[in-house]
Amino acid sequence: MRKPRIVILGAGYGGLVTAVRLQKKLNVNEADITLINKHNYHYETTWLHEASAGTLHHDRVRYDITSVIDKSKVMLVEDTVLEVNKEAKTVVCENNKEIPYDYLVIALGAESETFGIEGLKEYAFSISSVNNARHIRGHIEHQFALYAQDKKEERLTIVVGGAGFTGIEFIGELANRIPELCKEFDVDQKKVRIICVEAAPTALPGFDPELVSYAVARLEKKGVEFMIGTPIKGCTKEGIIVGKGDEETEMIPAGTVVWAAGVRGSSIIDKSGFENMRGRVKVEPTLLAPGEDDVFVIGDCSLIINEEINRPYPPTAQISMQQAEVCAKNIIALVRGDQLETFEYHPKGTVCSLGDDDGIGVVFGKKLKGTSAAVMKKVIDNRALYMAGGISLLMKKGKFKFL
Ligand code: FAD
Ligand code: NAD
Repeated sequence: MRKPRIVILGAGYGGLVTAVRLQKKLNVNEADITLINKHNYHYETTWLHEASAGTLHHDRVRYDITSVIDKSKVMLVEDTVLEVNKEAKTVVCENNKEIPYDYLVIALGAESETFGIEGLKEYAFSISSVNNARHIRGHIEHQFALYAQDKKEERLTIVVGGAGFTGIEFIGELANRIPELCKEFDVDQKKVRIICVEAAPTALPGFDPELVSYAVARLEKKGVEFMIGTPIKGCTKEGIIVGKGDEETEMIPAGTVVWAAGVRGSSIIDKSGFENMRGRVKVEPTLLAPGEDDVFVIGDCSLIINEEINRPYPPTAQISMQQAEVCAKNIIALVRGDQLETFEYHPKGTVCSLGDDDGIGVVFGKKLKGTSAAVMKKVIDNRALYMAGGISLLMKKGKFKFL
């Protein structure tokens, strides 16, 4: 009898952890496992703000997928997924055309959500891949280099759209990098502006207000300007357009605009005909897509409601990796004809870095700020490495300089 074909789309937190759990628990004669990913490397999405600001080299943020998968059990296909054909049970890819599956895991992560705001797609950067992070770092450096020649001050203005966790973590790194950049390019630091534009009435909406005040004060001390309660309305080659009152708008000239004001699930979800809300599939408790008995959706492409507040859990690496554990168990159950488990999320907390040496967080209900939060953040970063690649990956890529 033919072995069932398990196909996993995306080697991020959700997909890679699913693959390594399956390779550990399934025998070679039980199933064929294929992992399809755009690149031959995995990147730590949660470290991309560091690579974007240039405080961590992009090679530190990524590692070869083959360093954690067992090639005798998992076949890695380096390709871009274009669509899932549910009827034919195939995955359509750019190069490999059609790859058939019996069980599918969709873990393709998120894309930047621009809410149709004009000019953002064309002129703003997003912190969403190694390629983008490298581009942002290079662009900022290029602007500093050009300023040394033409003295156009707007080149030294960096606008960050959104004071959510991504925006704040990026600004924290950037604020630490600026003194170094000024030294390298002979720029007077007083001329550099980092402006964070947030539509909501506070930075980090929904997070502990005392910790938010601490974060804003710490970043302001490093020269960051906050424009709170100010929606971004558009973006041009010259800078950003923000709302001022009901009708009025203001143009802020800027050499660099980074849009960090929201994400949506992969566009492949919609293209493949899955019912979704902004690219996220409201999955069954087993993590199967509604109406499907062979397609699991996990990570940023999935949506799970927090029943306590009747709102979706925010998409995080934490929930993605917990889903991956249950997803792997449920695939094994299908292969072996056992009962499926239901997924229950156990949030452990949230830590937001403010550069390498500072941060805020709530972990197991306990508030952290400053050094303790910064250390905890690195512990969390290291744990993600350990989950995917065990002790050897942790030793190779781990963050061991705690302060
Ligand atoms: P990802 O980990 O993003 O992986 C998706 C994978 O799919 C990637 O390898 C990608 O290359 C691949 N892929 C995408 N499209 C295709 C395609 N068409 N074909 C083939 N391959 C494709 N969460 C936390 O819990 N804690 C944090 O501290 C934290 N910090 C963050 C910091 C930043 C700067 C950002 C941007 C996010 C952060 N998050 C954090 C959120 C977290 O990174 C995501 O929720 C998490 O990465 C989602 O995991 P995933 O497996 O769904 O997708
Ligand atoms: P987000 O949706 O959490 O925050 C986006 C912010 O942009 C919000 O504050 C929103 O009010 C603001 N915004 C929206 N439209 C705007 C506009 N037109 N003008 C100005 N501001 C606007 O998005 P994110 O920060 O990219 O985070 C994405 C996901 O990743 C979230 O689930 C988050 O929890 C997770 N994440 C977690 C961490 C962490 O745990 N340390 C770090 C980064 C991201």
